[in-house]
Amino acid sequence: MTLFPDMLDNILNESIIGRARKNGLITIRCHNIRDYSEDKHRRVDDTPYGGGFGMLMRPEPIYNCFEAITRGLEKKPHTIFMSPCGSVFTQEKAVEYKERGHIVILCGHYEGVDKRIIDEIVDEEISIGDYVLTGGELPAAIITDCVSRLCDGVLADSACYTDESFGDGLLEYPQYTRPAVFHGRAVPEVLLSGNHKNIDEWRRRESLKLTLERRPDLIDKKKV
Ligand code: SAM
Repeated sequence: MTLFPDMLDNILNESIIGRARKNGLITIRCHNIRDYSEDKHRRVDDTPYGGGFGMLMRPEPIYNCFEAITRGLEKKPHTIFMSPCGSVFTQEKAVEYKERGHIVILCGHYEGVDKRIIDEIVDEEISIGDYVLTGGELPAAIITDCVSRLCDGVLADSACYTDESFGDGLLEYPQYTRPAVFHGRAVPEVLLSGNHKNIDEWRRRESLKLTLERRPDLIDKKKV
């Protein structure tokens, strides 16, 4: 649910996610909250009570939109509000959302939304990091991309997302492709050896080394 559905559609119609949508592997619908405004000028925002900077999204059009898109469903879908005040999105969350099968994302804009709509329809507030953007559309696109690539058939092989950063709680080892030497920098010899046991060990070691250097917090969590 957004005031700028084209922003999301434009991103999510490209590349792997765009192909998965076309092939019917995933369904993503971008709903324009403005279509549900009952105001004769289709207004969706107003000034905050108590004064202050900027405009807030009013609750009624969001509620009407939510009602329309969930009408007739057996179970209310898990509903997320994109917000810098939420808990920070992680790969674990992405796996959880994939397993849920159906999620609704509310994108705020301007100074955000009236608190009462959060209390009324939202199950969880999610942030994509400690910074503030103009709207929830880019955060929603990030979550949708991340969850979609976990869905069956979207990537060629499920190893594509288990054998990568965060898949096993660590950062990914460095990767190389042709040429074997680039600007005097050679690919590590072990990767050219054809010995898969040694390659696996090297990758595991590099993965641990990188995680320890850059994200020791992940090692603490993983208890390796
Ligand atoms: N007044 C809000 C505050 O101080 O927390 C910021 C509002 S922000 C300008 C407008 C909208 O962008 C938010 O309602 C939210 O939907 C989205 N947004 C901005 N930064 C975000 C972030 N880091 N993570 C998720 N959503 C974000």
